[in-house]
Amino acid sequence: MRALRLTAWKSDPEMMEVPEPHPGPGEVVVRIGGAGACHSDLHLLHEFEPGLLPWELPFTLGHENAGWVAELGEGVHGFEIGQPVAVYGAWGCGACPRCLQGLENYCENQGEAPVIAGGSGLGLDGGMAEYLLVPAARHLVPLPDGLTPVHAASLTDAGLTPYHAIRRSWPKLMPGSSAVVIGVGGLGHLAIQILKATTAAQVIAIDPRAEARQLALRVGADHALDPGPTTGLEVRDLASGRGADAVFDFVGSDATIALGAMSARQMGDLTIVGLAGGTFPLSFFGVPYEVSIQTTYWGSRPELVEVLDLGARGLVRPTITEVPLDEAADGYRRLAAGQIEGRLVVVP
Ligand code: NAD
Ligand code: ZN
Ligand code: ZN
Repeated sequence: MRALRLTAWKSDPEMMEVPEPHPGPGEVVVRIGGAGACHSDLHLLHEFEPGLLPWELPFTLGHENAGWVAELGEGVHGFEIGQPVAVYGAWGCGACPRCLQGLENYCENQGEAPVIAGGSGLGLDGGMAEYLLVPAARHLVPLPDGLTPVHAASLTDAGLTPYHAIRRSWPKLMPGSSAVVIGVGGLGHLAIQILKATTAAQVIAIDPRAEARQLALRVGADHALDPGPTTGLEVRDLASGRGADAVFDFVGSDATIALGAMSARQMGDLTIVGLAGGTFPLSFFGVPYEVSIQTTYWGSRPELVEVLDLGARGLVRPTITEVPLDEAADGYRRLAAGQIEGRLVVVP
Protein backbone atom coordinates (compact mmCIF):
# COMPACT_ATOMS: atom_id res chain seq x y z
CA MET A 1 0.00 0.00 0.00
CA ARG A 2 1.04 3.65 -0.37
CA ALA A 3 2.05 5.64 2.71
CA LEU A 4 3.30 9.20 3.30
CA ARG A 5 6.42 8.77 5.43
CA LEU A 6 8.95 10.82 7.34
CA THR A 7 12.26 9.40 6.12
CA ALA A 8 14.74 12.01 7.41
CA TRP A 9 14.52 14.86 9.93
CA LYS A 10 14.25 18.39 8.49
CA SER A 11 12.84 17.22 5.17
CA ASP A 12 9.60 16.88 3.26
CA PRO A 13 7.68 13.61 3.67
CA GLU A 14 7.87 10.97 0.91
CA MET A 15 5.16 8.83 -0.64
CA MET A 16 6.37 5.22 -0.54
CA GLU A 17 5.15 1.69 -1.08
CA VAL A 18 5.04 -0.29 2.23
CA PRO A 19 3.62 -3.73 3.12
CA GLU A 20 0.00 -3.83 4.34
CA PRO A 21 -0.07 -4.43 8.10
CA HIS A 22 -1.73 -7.47 9.69
CA PRO A 23 -2.64 -7.63 13.38
CA GLY A 24 -0.82 -9.74 15.94
CA PRO A 25 -2.56 -10.87 19.15
CA GLY A 26 -4.51 -7.99 20.73
CA GLU A 27 -3.95 -5.69 17.74
CA VAL A 28 -6.40 -4.29 15.20
CA VAL A 29 -5.99 -3.04 11.64
CA VAL A 30 -8.15 -0.08 10.67
CA ARG A 31 -8.91 0.90 7.07
CA ILE A 32 -8.37 4.64 7.04
CA GLY A 33 -11.41 6.79 6.20
CA GLY A 34 -9.71 10.07 7.11
CA ALA A 35 -6.30 11.17 8.40
CA GLY A 36 -5.98 14.80 9.51
CA ALA A 37 -2.92 16.92 8.71
CA CYS A 38 -1.87 18.78 11.84
CA HIS A 39 0.40 21.80 12.09
CA SER A 40 2.41 19.74 14.62
CA ASP A 41 3.50 17.58 11.67
CA LEU A 42 5.04 20.70 10.13
CA HIS A 43 7.01 21.35 13.34
CA LEU A 44 8.00 17.67 13.36
CA LEU A 45 9.05 17.63 9.70
CA HIS A 46 10.93 20.89 9.47
CA GLU A 47 11.97 22.12 12.91
CA PHE A 48 12.91 19.16 15.12
CA GLU A 49 16.66 18.59 15.33
CA PRO A 50 17.88 15.02 14.68
CA GLY A 51 18.29 13.30 18.04
CA LEU A 52 15.69 15.46 19.81
CA LEU A 53 13.30 12.50 19.88
CA PRO A 54 14.31 8.86 20.40
CA TRP A 55 12.11 7.80 17.46
CA GLU A 56 13.33 5.59 14.66
CA LEU A 57 12.82 6.67 11.05
CA PRO A 58 11.10 6.08 8.75
CA PHE A 59 7.50 6.07 9.95
CA THR A 60 4.19 6.96 8.32
CA LEU A 61 2.72 10.34 9.29
CA GLY A 62 -0.82 10.93 10.54
CA HIS A 63 -1.82 11.10 14.23
CA GLU A 64 -5.47 12.04 13.65
CA ASN A 65 -7.31 9.00 12.35
CA ALA A 66 -10.67 7.33 11.89
CA GLY A 67 -11.94 4.58 9.63
CA TRP A 68 -13.39 1.08 9.73
CA VAL A 69 -12.19 -2.05 11.52
CA ALA A 70 -10.52 -4.17 8.80
CA GLU A 71 -8.90 -7.07 10.67
CA LEU A 72 -8.97 -8.21 14.30
CA GLY A 73 -5.98 -9.83 16.00
CA GLU A 74 -6.30 -12.94 18.13
CA GLY A 75 -8.11 -12.30 21.40
CA VAL A 76 -9.75 -9.00 20.37
CA HIS A 77 -13.45 -8.95 21.23
CA GLY A 78 -16.14 -6.29 21.15
CA PHE A 79 -15.50 -4.99 17.61
CA GLU A 80 -16.81 -6.14 14.24
CA ILE A 81 -15.21 -6.02 10.81
CA GLY A 82 -16.48 -2.92 9.01
CA GLN A 83 -17.40 -1.09 12.22
CA PRO A 84 -16.59 2.65 12.06
CA VAL A 85 -14.13 3.74 14.73
CA ALA A 86 -12.05 6.73 15.79
CA VAL A 87 -8.48 6.06 16.90
CA TYR A 88 -7.31 7.53 20.19
CA GLY A 89 -3.83 8.50 19.00
CA ALA A 90 -1.72 8.84 22.17
CA TRP A 91 -0.40 5.36 22.80
CA GLY A 92 1.00 4.99 26.32
CA CYS A 93 1.93 1.95 28.39
CA GLY A 94 -1.70 1.36 29.42
CA ALA A 95 -0.70 0.49 32.99
CA CYS A 96 0.73 3.58 34.76
CA PRO A 97 -1.60 5.74 36.91
CA ARG A 98 -2.16 8.29 34.12
CA CYS A 99 -2.87 5.63 31.49
CA LEU A 100 -5.31 3.97 33.89
CA GLN A 101 -7.21 7.28 34.01
CA GLY A 102 -7.34 7.26 30.19
CA LEU A 103 -4.71 10.03 30.06
CA GLU A 104 -2.28 8.15 27.81
CA ASN A 105 -1.16 11.56 26.51
CA TYR A 106 0.56 11.89 29.90
CA CYS A 107 1.84 8.28 30.19
CA GLU A 108 4.47 8.23 32.91
CA ASN A 109 6.47 5.53 31.17
CA GLN A 110 6.72 7.59 27.96
CA GLY A 111 10.21 7.50 26.52
CA GLU A 112 11.09 4.22 28.24
CA ALA A 113 11.00 0.86 26.45
CA PRO A 114 8.62 -0.28 25.12
CA VAL A 115 6.80 3.11 25.05
CA ILE A 116 9.45 4.97 23.05
CA ALA A 117 7.09 6.55 20.55
CA GLY A 118 4.23 8.97 21.16
CA GLY A 119 1.65 7.10 19.12
CA SER A 120 0.36 6.72 15.59
CA GLY A 121 2.30 8.99 13.25
CA LEU A 122 4.51 10.03 16.16
CA GLY A 123 7.37 7.55 15.99
CA LEU A 124 5.11 4.65 14.94
CA ASP A 125 3.27 4.29 11.64
CA GLY A 126 0.28 6.63 11.41
CA GLY A 127 -2.78 6.97 9.23
CA MET A 128 -1.51 8.65 6.04
CA ALA A 129 -1.90 5.28 4.30
CA GLU A 130 -4.65 2.87 3.35
CA TYR A 131 -4.38 0.87 6.59
CA LEU A 132 -3.24 1.57 10.16
CA LEU A 133 -2.00 -0.99 12.67
CA VAL A 134 -3.40 -0.16 16.12
CA PRO A 135 -1.41 -1.95 18.85
CA ALA A 136 -4.30 -2.36 21.32
CA ALA A 137 -8.09 -2.38 20.96
CA ARG A 138 -8.40 0.06 23.90
CA HIS A 139 -7.26 2.82 21.47
CA LEU A 140 -10.47 2.45 19.41
CA VAL A 141 -13.68 4.35 20.11
CA PRO A 142 -16.78 3.23 18.15
CA LEU A 143 -18.19 6.13 16.15
CA PRO A 144 -21.58 7.33 17.34
CA ASP A 145 -24.34 7.51 14.70
CA GLY A 146 -24.20 10.70 12.67
CA LEU A 147 -20.43 10.94 12.42
CA THR A 148 -18.41 9.90 9.36
CA PRO A 149 -14.73 8.89 9.64
CA VAL A 150 -13.70 12.02 7.69
CA HIS A 151 -15.26 14.30 10.32
CA ALA A 152 -14.35 12.05 13.25
CA ALA A 153 -10.66 12.01 12.25
CA SER A 154 -10.19 15.71 12.91
CA LEU A 155 -12.03 15.43 16.22
CA THR A 156 -9.36 13.03 17.57
CA ASP A 157 -6.77 15.84 17.82
CA ALA A 158 -7.99 19.17 16.39
CA GLY A 159 -11.14 18.60 18.48
CA LEU A 160 -9.77 16.65 21.45
CA THR A 161 -6.82 18.95 22.19
CA PRO A 162 -8.86 22.16 22.56
CA TYR A 163 -11.61 20.21 24.33
CA HIS A 164 -9.14 19.09 27.02
CA ALA A 165 -7.76 22.63 27.38
CA ILE A 166 -11.22 24.23 27.55
CA ARG A 167 -12.65 21.60 29.90
CA ARG A 168 -10.10 22.42 32.60
CA SER A 169 -11.18 26.10 32.42
CA TRP A 170 -14.93 25.34 32.60
CA PRO A 171 -15.28 26.64 36.20
CA LYS A 172 -14.06 30.06 35.04
CA LEU A 173 -16.32 30.25 31.97
CA MET A 174 -19.55 31.20 33.71
CA PRO A 175 -22.31 33.43 32.24
CA GLY A 176 -20.80 36.89 31.85
CA SER A 177 -17.34 35.50 31.11
CA SER A 178 -15.18 35.89 28.01
CA ALA A 179 -12.80 33.48 26.28
CA VAL A 180 -10.13 34.27 23.70
CA VAL A 181 -9.04 31.92 20.91
CA ILE A 182 -5.71 32.91 19.32
CA GLY A 183 -5.22 31.19 15.93
CA VAL A 184 -8.27 30.02 13.99
CA GLY A 185 -6.88 27.05 12.08
CA GLY A 186 -7.59 23.35 12.56
CA LEU A 187 -7.65 23.50 16.35
CA GLY A 188 -8.90 27.07 16.79
CA HIS A 189 -12.05 26.78 14.65
CA LEU A 190 -13.09 23.76 16.72
CA ALA A 191 -12.14 25.50 19.99
CA ILE A 192 -14.64 28.27 19.17
CA GLN A 193 -17.41 25.70 18.66
CA ILE A 194 -16.47 23.74 21.80
CA LEU A 195 -16.57 26.96 23.85
CA LYS A 196 -19.98 27.81 22.40
CA ALA A 197 -21.35 24.28 22.93
CA THR A 198 -20.07 23.76 26.48
CA THR A 199 -19.82 27.20 28.13
CA ALA A 200 -21.68 30.49 28.35
CA ALA A 201 -18.58 32.55 27.50
CA GLN A 202 -18.48 35.28 24.88
CA VAL A 203 -15.81 34.19 22.36
CA ILE A 204 -13.21 36.56 20.91
CA ALA A 205 -11.14 35.06 18.09
CA ILE A 206 -7.82 36.47 16.87
CA ASP A 207 -6.09 35.64 13.57
CA PRO A 208 -4.12 37.73 11.03
CA ARG A 209 -5.77 35.93 8.07
CA ALA A 210 -9.03 37.52 6.93
CA GLU A 211 -10.40 34.10 5.80
CA ALA A 212 -9.69 32.68 9.26
CA ARG A 213 -11.53 35.58 10.92
CA GLN A 214 -14.49 34.99 8.59
CA LEU A 215 -14.44 31.30 9.50
CA ALA A 216 -14.33 32.24 13.20
CA LEU A 217 -17.49 34.34 12.88
CA ARG A 218 -19.21 31.67 10.78
CA VAL A 219 -18.62 28.99 13.42
CA GLY A 220 -19.89 31.15 16.24
CA ALA A 221 -17.26 33.62 17.52
CA ASP A 222 -18.78 36.85 18.83
CA HIS A 223 -15.82 38.95 17.66
CA ALA A 224 -12.86 38.37 15.35
CA LEU A 225 -9.78 40.58 15.65
CA ASP A 226 -6.71 41.10 13.48
CA PRO A 227 -3.73 41.03 15.92
CA GLY A 228 -1.83 44.31 16.34
CA PRO A 229 -0.23 46.43 19.05
CA THR A 230 -3.58 47.36 20.65
CA THR A 231 -5.30 43.96 20.49
CA GLY A 232 -4.81 43.26 24.20
CA LEU A 233 -6.64 46.50 25.02
CA GLU A 234 -9.39 45.71 22.51
CA VAL A 235 -9.91 42.34 24.17
CA ARG A 236 -10.13 43.97 27.61
CA ASP A 237 -12.70 46.44 26.25
CA LEU A 238 -14.81 43.69 24.70
CA ALA A 239 -14.53 41.66 27.92
CA SER A 240 -16.39 44.22 30.05
CA GLY A 241 -13.15 46.15 30.58
CA ARG A 242 -11.83 43.35 32.80
CA GLY A 243 -10.05 40.97 30.46
CA ALA A 244 -10.71 37.41 29.36
CA ASP A 245 -11.41 34.69 31.91
CA ALA A 246 -9.60 32.17 29.72
CA VAL A 247 -7.22 32.60 26.80
CA PHE A 248 -6.34 29.66 24.55
CA ASP A 249 -3.24 30.22 22.46
CA PHE A 250 -3.13 27.95 19.40
CA VAL A 251 0.06 29.56 18.09
CA GLY A 252 2.47 29.79 21.03
CA SER A 253 4.88 32.43 19.73
CA ASP A 254 6.52 35.19 21.82
CA ALA A 255 3.93 37.62 20.45
CA THR A 256 0.85 35.48 21.06
CA ILE A 257 1.84 34.46 24.60
CA ALA A 258 2.46 38.14 25.43
CA LEU A 259 -0.92 39.02 23.88
CA GLY A 260 -2.55 36.27 25.91
CA ALA A 261 -1.02 37.57 29.14
CA MET A 262 -2.11 41.11 28.27
CA SER A 263 -5.66 39.95 27.50
CA ALA A 264 -6.25 37.82 30.59
CA ARG A 265 -8.36 38.86 33.54
CA GLN A 266 -7.14 38.61 37.14
CA MET A 267 -7.55 34.96 38.23
CA GLY A 268 -7.92 33.96 34.58
CA ASP A 269 -6.31 31.10 32.66
CA LEU A 270 -3.77 31.38 29.86
CA THR A 271 -3.35 28.00 28.19
CA ILE A 272 -0.60 27.59 25.61
CA VAL A 273 -1.41 24.85 23.10
CA GLY A 274 0.58 25.98 20.04
CA LEU A 275 4.14 24.78 19.56
CA ALA A 276 5.69 27.85 17.91
CA GLY A 277 8.38 27.83 20.60
CA GLY A 278 7.72 31.25 22.11
CA THR A 279 8.83 32.25 25.60
CA PHE A 280 7.44 34.73 28.09
CA PRO A 281 9.30 36.52 30.92
CA LEU A 282 7.15 35.86 33.98
CA SER A 283 7.34 38.48 36.70
CA PHE A 284 5.15 39.50 39.63
CA PHE A 285 3.70 42.65 38.05
CA GLY A 286 4.04 41.37 34.48
CA VAL A 287 0.76 39.44 34.57
CA PRO A 288 -2.62 40.13 36.20
CA TYR A 289 -2.87 38.75 39.75
CA GLU A 290 -3.45 35.02 40.06
CA VAL A 291 -3.39 34.30 36.34
CA SER A 292 -2.66 30.61 35.78
CA ILE A 293 -0.38 29.90 32.84
CA GLN A 294 -0.10 26.36 31.57
CA THR A 295 0.57 24.19 28.57
CA THR A 296 -1.64 21.27 27.64
CA TYR A 297 -0.91 18.27 25.44
CA TRP A 298 -3.70 16.42 23.58
CA GLY A 299 -6.49 14.92 25.72
CA SER A 300 -7.75 11.76 27.41
CA ARG A 301 -9.68 8.83 25.95
CA PRO A 302 -12.85 9.64 27.97
CA GLU A 303 -12.66 13.19 26.63
CA LEU A 304 -12.47 11.80 23.08
CA VAL A 305 -15.77 10.01 23.73
CA GLU A 306 -17.26 13.37 24.82
CA VAL A 307 -15.95 15.27 21.76
CA LEU A 308 -17.30 12.60 19.41
CA ASP A 309 -20.68 13.01 21.08
CA LEU A 310 -20.59 16.77 20.44
CA GLY A 311 -19.69 15.98 16.81
CA ALA A 312 -22.43 13.38 16.37
CA ARG A 313 -25.05 15.80 17.69
CA GLY A 314 -23.89 18.53 15.30
CA LEU A 315 -22.78 20.85 18.11
CA VAL A 316 -19.21 20.80 16.80
CA ARG A 317 -18.75 20.53 13.02
CA PRO A 318 -15.23 20.51 11.59
CA THR A 319 -14.76 22.60 8.44
CA ILE A 320 -12.80 20.25 6.24
CA THR A 321 -10.66 20.41 3.12
CA GLU A 322 -10.44 16.85 1.75
CA VAL A 323 -7.54 15.65 -0.41
CA PRO A 324 -6.65 12.19 -1.76
CA LEU A 325 -3.55 10.42 -0.38
CA ASP A 326 -1.55 11.29 -3.53
CA GLU A 327 -1.98 14.99 -2.72
CA ALA A 328 -1.09 14.72 0.97
CA ALA A 329 2.44 16.12 0.61
CA ASP A 330 1.09 19.08 -1.35
CA GLY A 331 -1.59 19.46 1.34
CA TYR A 332 1.11 19.98 3.97
CA ARG A 333 2.66 22.67 1.74
CA ARG A 334 -0.71 24.43 1.56
CA LEU A 335 -1.07 24.14 5.36
CA ALA A 336 2.39 25.70 5.82
CA ALA A 337 1.40 28.53 3.46
CA GLY A 338 -1.76 29.27 5.48
CA GLN A 339 -4.04 28.22 2.61
CA ILE A 340 -6.21 25.67 4.43
CA GLU A 341 -9.61 26.58 5.81
CA GLY A 342 -10.31 24.59 8.99
CA ARG A 343 -8.69 21.14 8.83
CA LEU A 344 -7.03 19.32 5.94
CA VAL A 345 -8.08 15.67 5.93
CA VAL A 346 -6.40 13.08 3.73
CA VAL A 347 -8.87 10.49 2.39
CA PRO A 348 -7.08 7.44 0.92
P1 NAD B 1 -3.13 25.69 11.71
O1 NAD B 1 -1.99 25.99 10.81
O2 NAD B 1 -4.31 24.97 11.16
O3 NAD B 1 -3.68 27.04 12.38
C1 NAD B 1 -2.84 28.02 12.93
C2 NAD B 1 -3.58 29.35 12.85
O4 NAD B 1 -2.87 30.33 13.58
C3 NAD B 1 -3.70 29.87 11.41
O5 NAD B 1 -5.04 30.22 11.14
C4 NAD B 1 -2.81 31.10 11.42
O6 NAD B 1 -3.27 32.13 10.54
C5 NAD B 1 -2.93 31.54 12.86
N1 NAD B 1 -1.86 32.43 13.31
C6 NAD B 1 -0.57 32.47 12.91
N2 NAD B 1 0.08 33.47 13.56
C7 NAD B 1 -0.81 34.07 14.38
C8 NAD B 1 -0.76 35.16 15.29
N3 NAD B 1 0.37 35.84 15.50
N4 NAD B 1 -1.88 35.50 15.96
C9 NAD B 1 -3.03 34.81 15.78
N5 NAD B 1 -3.15 33.77 14.92
C10 NAD B 1 -2.05 33.41 14.22
O7 NAD B 1 -2.53 24.88 12.95
P2 NAD B 1 -3.23 23.79 13.91
O8 NAD B 1 -3.08 22.44 13.30
O9 NAD B 1 -4.55 24.28 14.35
O10 NAD B 1 -2.21 23.81 15.15
C11 NAD B 1 -2.05 24.99 15.93
C12 NAD B 1 -0.86 24.83 16.85
O11 NAD B 1 -1.18 23.87 17.86
C13 NAD B 1 0.41 24.30 16.17
O12 NAD B 1 1.54 24.91 16.78
C14 NAD B 1 0.38 22.83 16.50
O13 NAD B 1 1.67 22.26 16.48
C15 NAD B 1 -0.17 22.88 17.90
N6 NAD B 1 -0.78 21.65 18.40
C16 NAD B 1 -0.59 21.39 19.72
C17 NAD B 1 -1.19 20.29 20.29
C18 NAD B 1 -1.02 20.03 21.76
O14 NAD B 1 -1.41 18.96 22.21
N7 NAD B 1 -0.50 20.95 22.53
C19 NAD B 1 -1.99 19.44 19.51
C20 NAD B 1 -2.16 19.75 18.16
C21 NAD B 1 -1.56 20.87 17.61
ZN1 ZN C 1 -1.71 17.19 16.15
ZN1 ZN D 1 1.43 4.83 30.92
